[in-house]
Amino acid sequence: MQLEELVGASLSVGSTRKRKAKIEALAQVLSGLSVEEREIGARFLAGDVRQGRIGIGYATVGKTRDVPPSEAAQLSLLDVDGAIAGLLETTGPGSAKRRMEQLRGLLSRATVEEQDFLRRLFIGEVRQGALEGLLVEAVAAAAGVPSALVRRARMLSGDVGAVVLTALEEGEAGLEGYALTPFTPVHPMLAGTADGIEDALDKLTEAFVETKLDGARVQVHRVGDEVRVYSRRLNEVTAAVPEVVEVARRLPAQRLILDGETIALDGEGRPRPFQETMRRYGRRTDVAKMREALPLSTFFFDVLLLDDDDLLEAPAQTRLARLDALVPEAHRVPRIRTDVTEEADSFLADALAAGHEGVMAKSPGAGYEAGHRGKQWLKVKPVHTLDLVVIAAEWGSGRRKGWLSNLHLAARSEDGGLVMLGKTFKGMTDALLEWQTAALLERELRRDDYVVHVRPELVVEIAFDGFQRSPHYPGGWALRFARVVRYRPDKRLEEAATMGDVEGFADGKGGTA
Ligand code: AMP
Repeated sequence: MQLEELVGASLSVGSTRKRKAKIEALAQVLSGLSVEEREIGARFLAGDVRQGRIGIGYATVGKTRDVPPSEAAQLSLLDVDGAIAGLLETTGPGSAKRRMEQLRGLLSRATVEEQDFLRRLFIGEVRQGALEGLLVEAVAAAAGVPSALVRRARMLSGDVGAVVLTALEEGEAGLEGYALTPFTPVHPMLAGTADGIEDALDKLTEAFVETKLDGARVQVHRVGDEVRVYSRRLNEVTAAVPEVVEVARRLPAQRLILDGETIALDGEGRPRPFQETMRRYGRRTDVAKMREALPLSTFFFDVLLLDDDDLLEAPAQTRLARLDALVPEAHRVPRIRTDVTEEADSFLADALAAGHEGVMAKSPGAGYEAGHRGKQWLKVKPVHTLDLVVIAAEWGSGRRKGWLSNLHLAARSEDGGLVMLGKTFKGMTDALLEWQTAALLERELRRDDYVVHVRPELVVEIAFDGFQRSPHYPGGWALRFARVVRYRPDKRLEEAATMGDVEGFADGKGGTA
């Protein structure tokens, strides 16, 4: 297959064409792959390469901007795969220069669109939520398997490329082989936003209402005495959090997957600031010392696997009954079950009085929707917040001279782009200004008179009072009274708010941030 064909289908995802047409275009590419092209094509569409990491970064790719594109399409998938293999084989003294020559050689044989695709592929920018959803549907069509089965496999594996390949090569039987497996973390279930308690109960009728702890998410896997802990981003963090390991090891079970939150509490049991909890995750050394100074408490709120029972699809009420029988109360998130607004309201008031950020309302009948931000879990916080992406920052003046201060904030658009929604310099301490200046300069792309444009990698939680229509910003909306709550190093760019979330808020429907 020619690269041109795959790139065309991949680019169509960003166009305004209808969802169905996009899925068809992707399915056509998947069906057209020969046996030897399958893995290459599946990986390229998923934004990966067969070889894993290529080790080419922004800086290197940036130095290829002047390579003139080819007028006519000439590259096949096998050509590109061969070129990638060649890059990886080039090691040793002088290899940087030779790799650059190889890369430029490859790009000179690519058309403008192909160049753009390859550059994004190399730096990991093809991967994006919108594409993934369509790819799941497309491979279901191409392989003639139910899309629910592909979705399930994707959720259990987290590796879209591998799932696409399995669907094409092994069909239903292969996909059914995906199972909840200890030490293979699954994407955590995510929460939508409710506009207050009443709205949450309106939407769910009856709910488990739980304290929303402002800490760091953990997914804890255990077989026998072996325990491993994964972060919200599915990185293994076992070594950083011995307390969590100890709690999990004491539970009366042999095989476990638990979902929960870790948080640093002060002497009176009130939460310390989120940044303090995150400090425990930043370090690899001195864990014992850190633990003494800043002990973490562990609270579980879900169980996905318990001995021989895969509970992923079991309703929350079943899972939580199992959780209650397994985990002592001291290590569970406080919870009530209610359909009465006043009861839920007073639970929220207590949670806030205890220093927590709000509550989570959860549907008792819902399965665990890994990786999905649905309407089954709704967070209720007293202020609106959205997780936005920092795309640039302005140099401060006066007392803030020398610091990058006014942040340019963006949400994600459906086509994987970023839409600026406003700026803020509020809510920043001196320590934060210092940190953010360094973090932003590390990501500098270019600068003009007073603005430094950065790679869109930092996610920041922004509190705001609402939205107003704006002719100045491309999305047509601007944030009102935006202020920084905190940076969210635990969130990836793909987890930042979308324009859909923004429009949900702006229309007064609460949104799903
Ligand atoms: P947010 O990160 O603001 O979208 O809120 C979702 C996060 O809240 C989850 O990823 C958890 O880390 C955290 N959280 C705190 N308490 C709970 C709870 N009781 N149930 C689920 N998530 C919780």
